[in-house]
Amino acid sequence: MAIPGVSSATREARPAHDRRETGARVTGAHVAGTRETGTQVTGAPARSGRSVGDWKLGVVAATRAETPSARSILIDVPGWGGNVAGQHVDVRLTAPDGYTAVRSYSVATAGAGDRIELAVDKLPTGEVSPYLVEELEPGDELELRGPLGGWFVWRPTQPEPVQLIAGGSGIVPLMAMLRAHAASGSAAPFRLLYSVRAPEDVFFRDELEALSSPSLDITWVYTRAAPVGWTTSPGRVTPELLAATTLPARDAPMVFVCGPTAFVESVATWLVEIGHPAASVKTERFGGLS
Ligand SMILES: Cc1cc2nc3c(=O)[nH]c(=O)nc-3n(C[C@H](O)[C@H](O)[C@H](O)COP(=O)(O)OP(=O)(O)OC[C@H]3O[C@@H](n4cnc5c(N)ncnc54)[C@H](O)[C@@H]3O)c2cc1C
Repeated sequence: MAIPGVSSATREARPAHDRRETGARVTGAHVAGTRETGTQVTGAPARSGRSVGDWKLGVVAATRAETPSARSILIDVPGWGGNVAGQHVDVRLTAPDGYTAVRSYSVATAGAGDRIELAVDKLPTGEVSPYLVEELEPGDELELRGPLGGWFVWRPTQPEPVQLIAGGSGIVPLMAMLRAHAASGSAAPFRLLYSVRAPEDVFFRDELEALSSPSLDITWVYTRAAPVGWTTSPGRVTPELLAATTLPARDAPMVFVCGPTAFVESVATWLVEIGHPAASVKTERFGGLS
C-alpha cells in the first residue's frame, strides 16, 4: 500500500528488516574479514575495493562522537563515485552464522569523491545501530549499497528557496544539503528548523553554528530541555511554530522534512494545512513510533 508523502524511490530502498524469528540481536555482527569480536569469523575475508553484486566494501577512516548516543562515521568506499545531497546507503552486517541485517543510513556528505560520512544514533534495543555506534572502529570494513534515492535530494542547480526541517538524527541528509549549498555558492535561500530533545542531542553543532548566517537562518527547537538562558520553554514543534518560523508558502519553497516517522508525518500534515502544496513537501521517515 502506498504511504502518503513517501516517494517510491524511498520505499523501494527501505531495508528488508530481516530480523530473526527469535527477535535476537545480531550479536557480534560483523562483516566477514573484520576483526573478531569474540566469535569465530566465518567465510573468506573480503578485500577492500572489491564489490560483490550491488554491495561495495568500505573501510572506516574515522569516527567522531556527535551526541552521547550518536556518532559520525567517515568511510572510504573505493569506486563510490559521489552522491547527490539527500541520498542514502544500505549497510549490511553479517553475523558469523551468515545471518544478515540491512539498514538504511543517510549520507551526510555530497558531491564527487570516494569518502562518505554517515551519522548514526543508537537505539538501545536495536540490532544494527548499537554495533555501528559502539563497536565499529577505524580500519573495519563495512558492506554498503548505494547511493540510493532520487526523490529526497537537492541539487545546487535548483534555484527555489529551501526549507529544511529535521527531528533528531533527521538532520543527516539535510546536512548534506547544507554542505552542498555552501560548497556550491548557491544563491537559493536556505532555512533550517532543527528539533532536538536537549542541547547535547544536536548533531553537527559546530558546523551548523558556523554555517548560520544572514543567508542561513536556523531555528532551534528543544523539546525537553533548553540551553541555559534560552528565552522559550522546551516544547514540541507545533503548527503555530511552523507558521511563524519557516518560509511561507507564498515564497514557494521546496521543503524537506526528515526524522522519526511520527515527527515527519505531523510536520508534513501541518505544512500542507498552512498552504504548502503536497508536491513541494518531501519527506524521509527514519522509523520508530515517536
Ligand atoms: C532512508 C533512511 C535513512 C536513514 N538514515 C538514518 C541516519 O542517517 N541515521 C540514523 O541514526 N538512522 C537512520 N535511519 C534509521 C535506520 O535505518 C535504522 O532504522 C535505525 O538505525 C535503527 O536500526 P536498528 O537495527 O538499530 O534498530 P531495529 O532493530 O530496526 O529496531 C529496534 C526498535 O526500535 C524501533 N525503531 C526503529 N527505527 C527507529 C527510529 N528511527 N526511531 C525510533 N525507534 C525506531 C523499532 O520499531 C524497534 O522497536 C534511516 C532510515 C531510513 C529508512
